[in-house]
Formats: sequence, C-alpha cells, structure tokens
Amino acid sequence: EYRPYQVDKKVLTTCPHCATGCQYYLVVKDNKIVDVEAANGASNKGLLCVKGRSGCFDFVHSPDRIKYPLIKNHETGEFERATWDEALDLVASKFLEIKRKYGSDALAGFACSRSPNEDCYMMQKLVRCAFGTNNVDNCARVCHSASVAGLAMTLGSGAMTNPIEDITKNPDVIMLVGSNPEEAHPVVGMQIRQAVQRGCKLIVVDPRDIDLAKKADIHLKLRPGTNVAFANGIMHIIIEEGLQDMDFINERTEGYEKIKEIVKDYTPEKVAKICHIDAEDLRKAAIMYAKADMAPIIYCLGVTEHSTGTEGVMSMSNMALLVGKLGRPGCGVNPLRGQNNVQGACDMGALPGDFPGYQKVSNPEVLAKFEKAWGTKLNPNPGTHATDIFPAAIRGDVKGLYIFGEDPVVTDPDTHHVIKALESLDFFVMNELFMTETAQYADVILPGVSYAEKEGTFSNTERRVQRVRKAVELEGEMRLDTDIFTDIMNRMGYPQPHLTSAEIMDEIASVTPSFAGISHERLDKEGGIQWPCTSKDHPGTPIMHVGKFTRGLGWFYPAEYVPSAELPDDEYPTILMTGRILYHYTTRAMTGRTPGLMQIAGKSFIEMNIEDAEAIGIKDGDRVKVSSRRGEIETTARVGTKVSPGETWMPFHFPDGNANWLTNAALDKYARIPEYKVCAVKVEKA
Ligand code: SF4
Repeated sequence: EYRPYQVDKKVLTTCPHCATGCQYYLVVKDNKIVDVEAANGASNKGLLCVKGRSGCFDFVHSPDRIKYPLIKNHETGEFERATWDEALDLVASKFLEIKRKYGSDALAGFACSRSPNEDCYMMQKLVRCAFGTNNVDNCARVCHSASVAGLAMTLGSGAMTNPIEDITKNPDVIMLVGSNPEEAHPVVGMQIRQAVQRGCKLIVVDPRDIDLAKKADIHLKLRPGTNVAFANGIMHIIIEEGLQDMDFINERTEGYEKIKEIVKDYTPEKVAKICHIDAEDLRKAAIMYAKADMAPIIYCLGVTEHSTGTEGVMSMSNMALLVGKLGRPGCGVNPLRGQNNVQGACDMGALPGDFPGYQKVSNPEVLAKFEKAWGTKLNPNPGTHATDIFPAAIRGDVKGLYIFGEDPVVTDPDTHHVIKALESLDFFVMNELFMTETAQYADVILPGVSYAEKEGTFSNTERRVQRVRKAVELEGEMRLDTDIFTDIMNRMGYPQPHLTSAEIMDEIASVTPSFAGISHERLDKEGGIQWPCTSKDHPGTPIMHVGKFTRGLGWFYPAEYVPSAELPDDEYPTILMTGRILYHYTTRAMTGRTPGLMQIAGKSFIEMNIEDAEAIGIKDGDRVKVSSRRGEIETTARVGTKVSPGETWMPFHFPDGNANWLTNAALDKYARIPEYKVCAVKVEKA
C-alpha cells in the first residue's frame, strides 16, 4: 500500500502487546500507521514477534474506536452521544453523591496495565485524592500479584531480579517453570531457543508439551497445582546431595533451618506421586540446576495463578536462595510479567496497600509524606483488592466503580459473578477505546487514546522504563486519559493543573525514590533505564540484590504443599487450565482487530488427551460442551497428547467459549489472585 521512501516519519516507541518491551518504529504516512520496523532495543535486539509486527496498528485506526463520550439511556438501554461537559459533570456528581451518602470506601477504581506509567499514576492519584479511598488496583491482581507479594516478602522487591539480556550471555542452565514464552512473550522465547542452540541446558516444568519442552533436557510434566511440592522436592535433593551454598545461606539468608526441616519430608518418591512425574528426572533436574554456575529461574502464570500462588512464587526464591543464585549475572528469579505495563501499574501505586514505589499506605511516615506532596488528607486504611471488589459490589459495600481500560468480564474468573457485580453497582464509568464486553455494562464511557496517540513510558518485565511516543493524531473527540482524570479531580473538589506526560514523570520522580533519577529527557537521551534509579546520575539497576537483598537478608519461606481449591471428582472429573496463545493479547480487544491474526486464530478450543477423548467418543475437531460448577460453554476439541490424561487446557481470548465462564474465583490468601490454572470440569459431546 505504500512505498518505503514515501513515508512521512518513523517514530521510535515500545510495543504494547506484552511486557518484553520490544522497541520498534511506527512507520507513518498521511497521519496513518502503515508499518512497523524492529529497532535494536535492550530486550529485543532487533527481534519482533507476530503480534509486534502485525497487531500493533490496525486497532489504532479501527472504525470500532469510540470517538465521543457516551451516556447510557436507562430507559432504552442504549448509549447516547454526550458532550464532554455533560459526561464529566455526570461522572463527578455521581461519584460525589456516593461518597457523601456511603463514604469514600464505597468507591473504587482500576488502573490500566496497558497504559503508560503517567496515566496509571494519575489514576491512582484521582482515586486517593478525589475519591478519598485506597480502593485502587490493576490487573496484576489476576496475573502476577503473587510475584509482587511473594518476592517482596522473601527478597524485598516484587520484580524480576535480572535482565532479559542475561539469556543471551550463555547461561549454563535455564529452569523454565509454568511459562510458555514462545506464545506469551515470544521474543524472550526466541532468545531461550537461541541459548539452547548454543548449548545451554533447559529444564521445563510445565503440565503441557509446550514447544520448548521438545528442546528441553528434562521436561517435568507435572500435575497442575503442585509447584510447591516440586520445589520442595528439588530442595530435598539439593540438601541430600550436599549441593546447597552454605556460605551464601549463612551470610545472606534467614529461615534455613525451618525450610530444611520442611523439605526433609518431600522425598523424590513422595513428590513424584504428588506431581505425577518421574523421581529420577526430578533428581537429575535438582542436580543440574544446583551444579550450574549461571542458571536463571524464569517463571510465569503457571506459578502465580493458584490459590497458593504466592507460596509458589516464594518456593521459586527458596530454590535460588538455597544455591546462592541471586544477586549475580545469569541467575535470579525472573517472573515474566504479562501486560505491557503491568510492572509499571504496580510501580505507580495502582495497588490498594502501596503508594508509588511500593511505599506502604500503612506506614504513618509515608502517609504524611504523600499528604504533604499531594496537599490533601489521605485515607490511612489500605484498600480492597480488585478481586474482592466484585463480591463487595454484590454485597452493596462498593457502589461506584471507575475502570480504566480493563475488561474483567472477559479476563476475570467466574464471568457470571463479575457480571452480577457490575449490575449491582449504582454507577459505573469506563475509559475505553472500544465497546468491550465490560464497557457494555457502564453508565458512562469516556473515550481515551491509544499508545500511538500519546507520550509516556512503559516499564517492561525487567523493570526497564522505556518511552512511548506519539505517532498519529486521529479525528474525533477522544482525549488524553491524564486530562480526563485531571478534569474529574477538578470537578470533585481536588484542584489540579493539566500536566504534560513529561511533567507527570517529574512529579513521579519527586515522590518515588526508585524513580528519582528518571525523566523523559533522560530516557530520550539514554534509552531505557531499569529502576531502582535513585538520582539523576544513577545508571539504573540491571541486577537486583547484589551484595544485599532489598529486605536485608533473603528469607526462606516455609512453604508446605496444599492441594488446589477445587479438585476433580465424579461429577467434574477433569482439571481445566487456562492460558494465552501466540496470536492474541489477553482480551483480543486490540489483536482481534487485525484481520490476519483473526484468520489464523479466531476461535476458541479445548486441548484434551486422546485417552480421555476416546473414552467418551470425541474426535479431534468435534464440538464439545464443557461445564463446571459455575457455567457451561461450547467449543472445539483439539485431541492429542499435549496435555496429560485427566487434564484439559483452554485459551481465554475468545467470546465463542471463553474459559472464564468455567474458572474458579478461589483466591490466594496473600495476593488475592484467582486460581485460573486449576478448576474441575466435565467434557461431553455437544
Ligand atoms: Fe511485542 Fe511482546 Fe512480541 Fe515483543 S514479544 S513484539 S513486546 S508482543
């Protein structure tokens, strides 16, 4: 459609489709993005995946974009076009009315993990300063809140310890746990594959035959929900073989004697039985990991999305602490965060217990600091987690909700329960680009702008803050999300000036020690910076916990294996896991608007084992009914051996059979993350 020499400009920016944070140029012709060209970013080294190459701009120019404010007419049930003044006046007056009648904690807001840091910062400021509550959260609650909580407890910082670049520096072994990066973080997956081709050994711990498992030296195809037993088994063997690093343990950790006592019981034979794996393979994996010099643990949602997700995360850091593989290159405990800026949304304080930079709401000194900086009295009580907001709405404790760019009707477990909660609200507002499944329940929809129409920064999974740059300006009445938040703050009696994105980052730096040295100006000159970056001349921190853990000593968390909340029984005899596929990004609100991606992968399916399928007369490609205690859906069977007998797997991207009608909203006790990876279902012929 265009000739390369005819383009108007190429704008360097950050891919919005996963937290790898690949750098690329948006190629613009006549105010339209016409192509993408890879750039040599720190995490992508000139690589891009199919989502980055083809899914990054169709949605920006989609005719489905919401172009002006909408207010629902409750008599007809239809949305009607409104002016900005009408919409903003209504939003502010309704939220103020709820606050007056029921108190501040009857309001809540969710920030958007796809939007820049500056947007997330302003959203949490709106909730804290104008709503007067700490009921603010983001979708990390349903993906990696267990990493944020777990690694903060054991190491002191809830973030990836080492850079992605370490994978390219010839580690001896990579231990990949509950992570399928070739689908969810494809450029990380490519770099792992290249490392293996150069001779790095690979241990894959995953219930499915993911493609990287075919390249692995050892694949532990464990039963979903048994990560803690697996890690305790690894530690049992390491101690039995005398491979633990006693110098590191004595100098830099606490809690060793307790964990040693616990893992004594987790013999390879016992663990093999719990995890459905081979005891000898477990032994080989433990020895391979312990003896390696450089060996990162890389993990993802297969570890976190359990009712014991935080303990699963802490079990990952337990293994690394035992062999001293923290605080040095090529090692560490490395959660691959999901959404492009989910790390940043947490860093910016879109969390119910944390101000920006994980400064605790419950600490009176921190509270006083933010009251001074923001010039207002703040609520001293930590807020309610997003996954607890829905039950609170059903009970009538939360009456008003503001969701910025999230789509919980698609992404959250037990869809009936989420819809019931949204319908229970007195007033519900959304900032959105599209009429998503969740937006349909809103009273007011405020049209914001996409990553290609604004300035800002994303923090990728390795804590690297990188620039997002405006490439196009579209026709319509859409507005910068930060301006929308500012207008609502002003209307709710908390006067704020309209700031540019660069000015907002300066404010973030002034209140957030780990961002103190970060500014747009510096990022434009130097490229990305990994926090902590504590002063203007601080170079950033590629590797955390060098010499000392953020919390002082690394803590061995005494984790015992506890089975998943809902196990198969006679009525629902099969485990269902959920996950993502290569071609789509979460709710597919963005990638679903790229025709090529929808042609390749546009429909839902369920993977089942051939033994189970034959037993009930199902063939590959048959339509099946899948039911759980919470709902039922129809989808298409993919029959094979990718999953083990008694187990199934589904993506959650597709409206024709979204797995979340079935999933269980059982929550982890620390992070309140739901158990997406294990629920009990029944599969029948449709
Ligand atoms: Fe974008 Fe992630 Fe693909 Fe990189 S790996 S191009 S960040 S979707």
